[in-house]
Amino acid sequence: MNVLVINAGSSSLKYQLLDAQNGDVLAKGGAERIGLDHALIKHNSKGCDTVTLPMDLPNHKVAVQAVLSVLTSEEHGIIKGMDEIDAVGHRVVHGGEKFASSALITPEVKRAIRSCFDLAPLHNPPNMTGIEACEEAMPGVPQVAVFDTAFHQTMPAKAYMYALPYEMYEKHGVRKYGFHGTSHGYVARRAAEMMGKPYESVNIITCHLGNGSSIAAIEKGKCVDTTMGLTPLSGICMGTRSGDIDPAIVTFLMEKEKLDTKGVDNMMNKQSGVLGISGVSSDFRDLYAAAGEGNKRARLALDIFKYQCRKYIGMYAAAMGGVDAVVFTAGIGENTADIRQGACEGLTYMGCEIDPYRNASVRGREAVVSTDESKVKVLVVPTNEELAIARETARICGFSI
Ligand code: ADP
Repeated sequence: MNVLVINAGSSSLKYQLLDAQNGDVLAKGGAERIGLDHALIKHNSKGCDTVTLPMDLPNHKVAVQAVLSVLTSEEHGIIKGMDEIDAVGHRVVHGGEKFASSALITPEVKRAIRSCFDLAPLHNPPNMTGIEACEEAMPGVPQVAVFDTAFHQTMPAKAYMYALPYEMYEKHGVRKYGFHGTSHGYVARRAAEMMGKPYESVNIITCHLGNGSSIAAIEKGKCVDTTMGLTPLSGICMGTRSGDIDPAIVTFLMEKEKLDTKGVDNMMNKQSGVLGISGVSSDFRDLYAAAGEGNKRARLALDIFKYQCRKYIGMYAAAMGGVDAVVFTAGIGENTADIRQGACEGLTYMGCEIDPYRNASVRGREAVVSTDESKVKVLVVPTNEELAIARETARICGFSI
């Protein structure tokens, strides 16, 4: 069955058309600069070169129609008609406490997604725009919402509550939600398969290390804790996000730097993380290049990142009373042996030992990188959020895959 996976941002709309049965990517691309001048679609059909197609895209509805006409066009397309699209799966960032699973989109589900707008003001509104654009362009085709937060809804209250006045939770929904759930769930299941063990029988720590990074503790198939919180700002430091800091720093800096709420929010989200520490870049390739040339702050940024990963691995092993596997994924986790090595440094006392030779040879592919003796397996599993969304969509629509 063919599923169109949609990830709608404020001025962009990324898509993939996949066969949910075998994971085959038939086509992928993105509409860019929607609602702006010089809009375009970058499109790639399986086995063909990527094409860039400038076109007028005044809004998301027109963008969806344009994507559909590219997918079905004789020149660049891959399918003959829209009837070859069986369902659409939408990435929706925040499902609040309302969604512990993916959901077939109905008027009620749309109302519930809207009620989470406050929690993810930058993400949920464009996600909804993408849903409504697809509903209009493809009437009758089932649409499914797959939430980044749903996977983490199994966390117990002792993990998700902040020690603030309880009314802040009741009135405003202030609690830990967690993000990257589709990725954490996908790589954890895959890791269990690679170990030849039932997913429900193992404890796994998944490290999704990309531009945004989060770590999750998955105890016998259920997420029990994760580093991101009410928003994707907490946890380990990231490309440009601070991660955990003393909360008093916020008001301290507002006073000292004469910042308003937007200003301090911008500093913590856009000017911090490894970019803020190094002053070089948020991209780990640039940091390694600079550190190689002797840049001390770039080296410090890398050391901080590794140290924070290692701390959370230790913390989550303690939280679960033991761990069977540590999994690395996303841009940094999949490609950077030095980060994996640093994150697992000194964990031999708890039976977690990386094989430096195996580890150094792995980049962007599935592999076990721990020693044969290591009690805790260390694995690299490339994430595939689009395939996970396509499979979820098929499951919710009742298609057997
Ligand atoms: P996103 O969170 O935007 O999906 P990715 O998972 O693509 O991010 O990760 C992006 C980050 O991964 C980049 O900032 C870069 O630091 C890192 N990265 C990607 N490829 C490599 C590589 N080959 N070597 C080292 N780091 C890489």
